[in-house]
Amino acid sequence: MTTFRALVLDDKDGKVSSSLQTLDESLLPPGDVTVAVTHSTLNFKDGMVLAGLGRIVRKYPHVPGVDFAGVVEQSTSPLFKSGDSVILTGWRVGEWYWGGYAEKARVKGEWLVPLPAGIGAQQAMAIGTAGLTAMLAVIALEKHGLKPGSGEVLVTGAAGGVGSVAVALLARLGYTTAASTGRAEAHDYLRSLDAATIVSRAETMAPPGKPLVSERWAGCIDTVGGAMLAGVLPAMKYGASVAACGNAGGNDVPASILPFLLRGINLLGIDSVAKSMPERREAWARLVRDLPLDRLDAMTSVIGLADLPAEGQRILKGQVRGRVVVDLSR
Ligand code: NDP
Repeated sequence: MTTFRALVLDDKDGKVSSSLQTLDESLLPPGDVTVAVTHSTLNFKDGMVLAGLGRIVRKYPHVPGVDFAGVVEQSTSPLFKSGDSVILTGWRVGEWYWGGYAEKARVKGEWLVPLPAGIGAQQAMAIGTAGLTAMLAVIALEKHGLKPGSGEVLVTGAAGGVGSVAVALLARLGYTTAASTGRAEAHDYLRSLDAATIVSRAETMAPPGKPLVSERWAGCIDTVGGAMLAGVLPAMKYGASVAACGNAGGNDVPASILPFLLRGINLLGIDSVAKSMPERREAWARLVRDLPLDRLDAMTSVIGLADLPAEGQRILKGQVRGRVVVDLSR
């Protein structure tokens, strides 16, 4: 009998609680690749799953963790063989299917990406879904004409996971990056990621009743949504694009149509969960090329499985800075 350690969520009368358990491998879900997980991470969505919010999980008991990295233990997939280093992000793993907060995971081979040369498993999880999403947002903005020299590019929720990777990426690519944060204590941190300007959250939020203000932003990566996104749209430059990738500040966007009609701006939706494999591979290759690893390491903290319930609460309150890696050996 082979067993493994996992963080397991149970639902009792609508109240979700977690416990560290030792499970038998026979309990793993169907799939053609079994992975010995070495690292996972904490994304905003993981915080929601840990707290039982948003009806994301379909069935309990559940093993959360939307991302993992590790080494293939067994495979009947033609795509991977035993000993291959792999990454998984998205595909509803950790939501509908058991995820990465466990020493073992079993998934479809077609969901896995080979660990790119040049980064380790811990760095891959420091990037994780958050970093992949930041890269996808940058690629979307580039495809819509953004170039270094176009002007200031705004990142909202900048001290969070997606935001921190976005700031470091944009700065390395030569963009003039403006970081919007609600945390005064994060200003030095954001400057250390090479943000050119720091903007307060209050300044970026919607000025009520003003559909247009002076044109300022040549592009925007918005991780906050809600009133933040509504506040950004009136200040976009003519023809500029906003990559909308998050809703940490809410789902309802009280916005005017006028910036679209009078300034021809674009709203680009970013989804990382079901992104096609060629687009994922392109994004991972770009991350290895364009994300400075010293900045990535500086934005990363490392925890163990037992720390996840408390860290999950912190990420929901906007208190986590940068990226959190889960080291399964801790
Ligand atoms: P984090 O919690 O790490 O970052 C979110 C940041 O948003 C916070 O750090 C804070 O930044 C800001 N923030 C939080 N609450 C509020 C609020 N009420 N009002 C204004 N600002 C707020 O989360 P992640 O970076 O992991 O995720 C960010 C968002 O992106 C989430 O909504 C997540 O669901 C989404 N996401 C979407 C993906 C996709 O595929 N589209 C993939 C990954 C994430 P600060 O303190 O600097 O102001």
